[in-house]
Formats: sequence, structure tokens, C-alpha cells
Amino acid sequence: MTLLVMGGKKAASIAARSLVPGKPHHAQWFITRKCNYKCLNCNIWEEQDKEELSTEDIKRGMDVLKDAGIVELVLSGGNPLLRDDIGEIIDYATKHFVTTVYDNGSLAVKKLDLLRKVDFAAISIDSLNAEKHDFIKNVPGAWQNAMHAVEVLKKEGVKVCVAPTISQINLYEIEELTNHFTSKDIPILYGLYSYDTEGSNQLFRIGKHRDEFIITDKQAMVNLCDTLQMARKTSGKRILITDKLLKTLRSLFAEEKRVWSCKALQNFLVIDHLGRIAGCHNQTFTSSIFDLPKNRKTQEYNTQKEQYKICTKCNYLCYIFYSIYGTPTGHLTLVKEQWKNAALLLKKQ
Ligand code: SF4
Ligand code: SF4
Repeated sequence: MTLLVMGGKKAASIAARSLVPGKPHHAQWFITRKCNYKCLNCNIWEEQDKEELSTEDIKRGMDVLKDAGIVELVLSGGNPLLRDDIGEIIDYATKHFVTTVYDNGSLAVKKLDLLRKVDFAAISIDSLNAEKHDFIKNVPGAWQNAMHAVEVLKKEGVKVCVAPTISQINLYEIEELTNHFTSKDIPILYGLYSYDTEGSNQLFRIGKHRDEFIITDKQAMVNLCDTLQMARKTSGKRILITDKLLKTLRSLFAEEKRVWSCKALQNFLVIDHLGRIAGCHNQTFTSSIFDLPKNRKTQEYNTQKEQYKICTKCNYLCYIFYSIYGTPTGHLTLVKEQWKNAALLLKKQ
């Protein structure tokens, strides 16, 4: 989610693309639908698919994304590290995009050398309590693997960050989890539990409806936003969330007010493992990635963009984040914020 700008040609190209208004800047590519975990709050592992695009098609797709103005690419899945060609994909992606790769903590150590180039290797850790984390991930030993992965990656100089998904299950320990990792100079990249509604004509499903994950203690969530906002002011805290996003979340939980309008397709898009594009995974198929250059000029594409502006169907944190940085002023603020985070991350880890 956070833009890490690095030196040289790539930085110049990214800076130029990020300041061009009217183009989507963020893409999340679910490059595989295979996963080796069984998280309770996720549909993906029950709806796996062996089919996926070839390496060459993924590279061709990345060329399309670059030409379309994308600056930040998140590679996720399933578990993207399950692909045999993940090294080649990372090599190609990191030449052009600020690249984040997600892992549930099971494969990062094995693929450590491939992760050296990424801007963020995000390891999912939802709790400091091993039993609770294993319960959420639905895999015994998941916590041990994830903690070990973070430790090894950090020691080896990989730009690792910890990615907890905030839900009612871990709400009261997010502050402690944040302090634990930031005190070791490991940044935190938050997600927010959200679930997909049944029966919609969507690209694919991610979040599974589970009552115990839904945030019911809204005041605690408001307090957490305030705490994180304060903590961000303290030097040395590596909290990868902007003040603007925290304020947006605060309004959502304090007043049930959505102070943003969704910018799916306008600011961001998603691509599935077969190369199909949609504004977000909750929405219907828009175009094949290879047809994006011609399809994004069509009336239908623009109509979908307009419809998504009034959509209130989900609260996935990454989609909110990409939405609130939509205007030219927003982009400038984002660049400023991101450079601040980049400065922290560029310190020797
Ligand atoms: S949340 Fe991630 S690791 Fe867990 S089952 Fe879903 S895709 Fe796999
Ligand atoms: S609010 Fe935006 S991101 Fe969420 S389902 Fe609607 S269009 Fe998709």
C-alpha cells in the first residue's frame, strides 16, 4: 500500500507516472488462486483453481499496466510464492513498479533470495498469541513460521513488514502488536476485516462472512485510530498508514459515515489469476488485461467507473486507501506521505 521510491531510473519513471492525473496508479494482481493455508476469514482456499497465466503472459500484462499508468503493484493470491516462476515475475515487476509481495509466512524463508528485490515483503501476522494466530490461519504452526520468517527476512536485509488484518478477534491487541514490531524497526501494514456478500456477480471472492471477525466494539476501533495517529507522530514508529486514512476510518466507526467515494477503476483495479480485470474483486469482469488499452476508452468502462463511485458494498482497507488519494492534490499529499515512509524504510534495516 505504501509507495517506496528508490533511486535511479525507476524512481524517475514512477514519480512521472504517479503525478499524471486521471489514470489508475494502483493494481493488485492475484497471480494465483492456489493457497496452502485455510484462513477462517477467507474464501480463497475453498475456491482454488489450478489454471493461471503463463510467465510470458504475466510479463506482457505488466507491460500493459505500466503503459496504463500503474506505479504500485501488489502481487497476491492465494499465495503468490507458490508459483514456480515467482522469481522471474518479481524480477520483472520490480523493474517497473513499487512492488509488494504477500506471504502467509510459510514460504518466505524458502524464497528469501527472490524477495531481496521487492519493496515490501508483507508477512501476515494477526496476533502475538501463537494459539490465536494458528486458530485464525487454521493451520497449526502458522504463527511459528510467520515469526521465524519475519526474523530471518529482517536479518537478511529484505524489506519485510508485518501485515495484520484488524478484526474483532485481535482488535484489543493491535496496539501491542504494533509496538512489538515497530520497536524492532519492522513496519506494519494494516488490513481491515471485510467480507463479500453472497450471490453477487463478482470477479472472485475473498472475505468470508464470520460473525466473530466483525468489529462490534466500534469505540475500541475509534480509540485504535487515535492511538495509531499519535504513535505516528513519535519518531521511529514505522506505521504504514496515513493520517488521512486513519481519519477516514475514524469517521466510519464513530459516525458510520463514509467520507470517501470509491475510486475503483479510476484510481485502482484488480486482476485475477486468469488476467481478468475488474474495479475490485467484488465487481464484475471488465476486460482482459490485454484488452485494457482499448477497453478503458469505452463508454461501458466509464459507466462502471461512475457506478462504483456510489458503491458502499465493502470496507477493504486497501480500496479505501486508493480511493481517498484520488484528486491531483490527493496525489501530491500521497507522494509526500509516501516519501516520509520511504525515508524510514530506506534506513538500513
Ligand atoms: S487469507 Fe491468504 S493465506 Fe489465508 S487462505 Fe486466504 S489467500 Fe490463503
Ligand atoms: S465500495 Fe468500491 S471497492 Fe468496495 S465493492 Fe464497491 S466498488 Fe468495489
